[in-house]
Amino acid sequence: MINVAIDGPAGAGKSTIARKAAAELGYIYIDTGALYRTVGLFMMNSGVDTADAAAVAAALEQKPEVELQFLDGEQRMFLNGADVSAAIRTPEASMAASRVSAVPAVRAFLFELQKQLAREHDCIMDGRDIGTVVLPQAQVKIFLTASPEARAERRYLELIEKGMDVNYDDVLADMKERDYNDSHRAIAPLKPAEDAVLLDTSGNTLEESVALVLSTIREQLSKKQ
Ligand code: C5P
Repeated sequence: MINVAIDGPAGAGKSTIARKAAAELGYIYIDTGALYRTVGLFMMNSGVDTADAAAVAAALEQKPEVELQFLDGEQRMFLNGADVSAAIRTPEASMAASRVSAVPAVRAFLFELQKQLAREHDCIMDGRDIGTVVLPQAQVKIFLTASPEARAERRYLELIEKGMDVNYDDVLADMKERDYNDSHRAIAPLKPAEDAVLLDTSGNTLEESVALVLSTIREQLSKKQ
C-alpha cells in the first residue's frame, strides 16, 4: 500500500489539500484530527474535564466506540453509533481534542485504528505525528505549515462559512494555544519527521498548494521506484 503522511499545525490547509490530492491520486484521505475530536467530544458529553489527564484516561476505560466510515468518499465520524461529523467541528471540540490528544492513553487508543487503515488502503493520512510515530515507514512524508495569521484567517473563514458565530482574534488566540499545546506536549509533539519535505502554504491559493503537494508526492514516489 502507498502511504502518504501529511503533518502540520492547525489551519495549514492540510485537510482540504490532502482531500483533493487524494481524490486526484485515487487514494483515500484519512483525517486523524477527527479521531481526536471524537474522543474529545466523548469526554465533553460525559462531563469529563478535558484538562484533567487522569480523568480522561479513566473515562476511556468505558471504551467509547469510535468509528470512521466513508460515504461518497467523505469521511464521517461515529461515536457510539451516532454520526458526530458536524458536532466535532465546534471551537469547544477543537480545544477538547487538543487537550485529550496530550493524554498517552488516548494516543494508544487511536494508534492501532490508524495503523490498520494504512495497512488496508493507499491513503493520504493527515495529523500531527503521522510521519514521526504512526507511519514512520510512509513512502512520502510532508510537513505542511503557514504563518499563524494565515492559518487563523483560513480557519475563521471556514467557521463563518459553516454559520458559526466567531471572531478572528479568538480564532487566532485559540490557534496559538493549540499550537503551543501540540508542540510542547511530552508525547508525540508536533514536529517534522527527519525525512519530511517541508512545504509552506502562506500566500498560496488552494489550487497552488494542491499542485505543490501533488508534485511533491509524485516526485518522492518516483525516487522510491
Ligand atoms: O487537525 P485537527 O485540528 O482536526 O486536530 C484536532 C486536534 O487533535 C489537534 O489540535 C491536535 O491536538 C490533535 N491531533 C493530534 N494528532 C493527530 C491529529 C490531531 O494530536 N494525528
